[in-house]
Amino acid sequence: MADILYTYKHQVYANITNKCDCRCTFCIRSHEDTVGDAETLWHKTDPALEEITGAMDAFDFTGFDELVYCGYGEPTCALDNLIASAKYARQKYGVRIRVNTNGLANLYHQKDIIPLLSEAVDAVSISLNAPTAEAYDKVTRPQFDGAFDALLQFASRCEEYIPDVRLTIVDVLPPDEIDACQKLADSLGVTLRIRKYA
Ligand code: SF4
Repeated sequence: MADILYTYKHQVYANITNKCDCRCTFCIRSHEDTVGDAETLWHKTDPALEEITGAMDAFDFTGFDELVYCGYGEPTCALDNLIASAKYARQKYGVRIRVNTNGLANLYHQKDIIPLLSEAVDAVSISLNAPTAEAYDKVTRPQFDGAFDALLQFASRCEEYIPDVRLTIVDVLPPDEIDACQKLADSLGVTLRIRKYA
């Protein structure tokens, strides 16, 4: 089985699914099988809840105050296991929970999952990637129509329920697109984080 928990740059991550409803042109999955100290992040089948909590029990959380759901897939595609295991980790190991997401969960599940998500997570980091629907579709190649608008609605709704919400882009976007993303984030009342491209 692939690694469920792995560490990278002094941070611990949970890799709970390989499902994803995007095919981003830049996705690390297309050119690497692993990140950090994981042997592989490709699951033969997605782990069951007991396997995820078992991996948590086998991990030494000393020195880690946050667990980030981010692996070779979109964590909210495994919503039930995400919520149940995040509650487990928070209660048993006292860690803060962050989810790195493509922000399409409401579209994927065809319902508003945010009240449920807010019961289990402290922070959400949403990949904005681009300032327009056209540019977004080109770079993320989502499975569903209307993904960009769904992402914006998701971010805005998260802001109502979850204490720490960020939209993220990378610093390789042209300055005019970075400005447009900033304006978009401001209009939603959500913080924009500009990440260094690794
Ligand atoms: S949303 Fe994340 S996991 Fe899915 S294709 Fe894009 S970068 Fe990869």
